[in-house]
Amino acid sequence: MRNDPASPPLCVKVHARDNVAIIVNEGGLPRGTRLDSGLVLVEEVPEAHKVALVDIAEGEPILRYGAVIGYANTPIAQGSWVHEGVTRLPQPPSLEDLPLSTEVPELLPPLDGYTFEGFLNDDGSVGTKNILGIATTVQCVAATVDFAVKRIKAELLPRYPNVDDVIAITHSYGCGVAIQAPGAEIPIRTLRNLSLNPNLGGAPLVVSLGCEKLQPLQLMPASTLPVLTEAPYIVRLQDERHLSFSDMVASIMEMAEERLIRLNARRRVPRPAADLVVGLQCGGSDAFSGVTANPALGYAADLLGRAGATVIFSEVTEVRDAVHLLTARAADEEVARSLIREMAWYDDYLLRGSVDRSANPTPGNKKGGLTNIVEKALGSVAKAGTSRLAGVFGPGERVTKKGLIFAATPASDFICGTLQLAASMNLHVFTTGRGTPYGLAMAPVIKVASRSALAERWGDLVDVDAGTIATGAATIQQVGEQIFHLILDVASGRKQTCADRWGLHNEFVLFNPTPVT
Ligand code: CA
Repeated sequence: MRNDPASPPLCVKVHARDNVAIIVNEGGLPRGTRLDSGLVLVEEVPEAHKVALVDIAEGEPILRYGAVIGYANTPIAQGSWVHEGVTRLPQPPSLEDLPLSTEVPELLPPLDGYTFEGFLNDDGSVGTKNILGIATTVQCVAATVDFAVKRIKAELLPRYPNVDDVIAITHSYGCGVAIQAPGAEIPIRTLRNLSLNPNLGGAPLVVSLGCEKLQPLQLMPASTLPVLTEAPYIVRLQDERHLSFSDMVASIMEMAEERLIRLNARRRVPRPAADLVVGLQCGGSDAFSGVTANPALGYAADLLGRAGATVIFSEVTEVRDAVHLLTARAADEEVARSLIREMAWYDDYLLRGSVDRSANPTPGNKKGGLTNIVEKALGSVAKAGTSRLAGVFGPGERVTKKGLIFAATPASDFICGTLQLAASMNLHVFTTGRGTPYGLAMAPVIKVASRSALAERWGDLVDVDAGTIATGAATIQQVGEQIFHLILDVASGRKQTCADRWGLHNEFVLFNPTPVT
């Protein structure tokens, strides 16, 4: 909504206890504006930023989402702009005495009868796309594989119309890495599990150089293949049978074609919504994300959970400050302890780099009204809905449980996306306030805008406008149901996401916490 006489001044307060609200009007509101409640702004407050609803004394808590997001480091007068400069960051919740499984939500009634059209794999997983993926052990082979993929797409793919795409899983790992270091299992299992993603149809193909640290049988032992096969699945460029670059490319293309024939014979079949593995993420968040897009996605997450699906949320630094809410929601104490273990690992990881979780918010987050990581985290976890936490998995592990799952990842958009693909995500939903053209080649990405102004300006990049919740034009439930139905349509190939329409596909980015030699 534009800041003109047709748009009445509007602010949103989330929780009855809150002593701040955020300004809805595009462009913000000038000093002297009188809101419906009678509140008068004593200074200009930018769009999505907070206004003090009452006088807040120095040292008093600033409350949003009914929780403390910081403390006033100076007296804040009613009607003032509450920004980072007047706010002190609270300590994160201690990991020592968290509630373990003390407020486990009741199971919601099952939701039957929802299906999508997917590709059934031999291991029982289901793809929302039918893609040939070519794995690589090392960056040395990346350019060769990219060269081969270009030729495969031009010369072979047109003959196999049921195959959606051919992608190279390239990365910077594999050479000069401390392969036995603690934590090295993270990038290695990430690469392995990427190849096993349900959208790749269980047809792994690995391209290796030959001399690299990460050898193909360590990346992908035959025992990890979805169906034990005697058929070769590794191409080594340094093999003596390759007498030229053309030979190498021919080897890759020959093995690729064997797989294209298999993949092309597959058809979409009706599958229960329970076969969905939906990864949730936010990026370029603003103060609306936690009021509009994330709660609406949380509503959709609850519907997916009731339908028996797997719903994955991630981004450790964005749940760290809300961890006490999640350990209480854990299905049992073991799940709660697993969550604490992942948080502790990450606290230590950040400490080794001499930072803490306050390094998370970006300049864009702050411009969008998010004062600090606490406020960001409280808004971020809203996308996990209200159901019990059913399981916790480490970075790059393949998720093997149904229900609401926490898969530990950094909050970086591409690293989180890559790790969620390794976790076996077959569809991604991404909320954004500031806007990003983000997309992934391996799974469709539905983008949800937290503000209508963004959804209107980027109508060809944003799939769902959740900003209507802030203006009162729609409810959280309505937008949540819209997202749920769009997930089923996109998973079935009936609707295309904006990112797929333009072919916007970010690169795989590995999480490697170990030294490079
Ligand atoms: Ca993110």
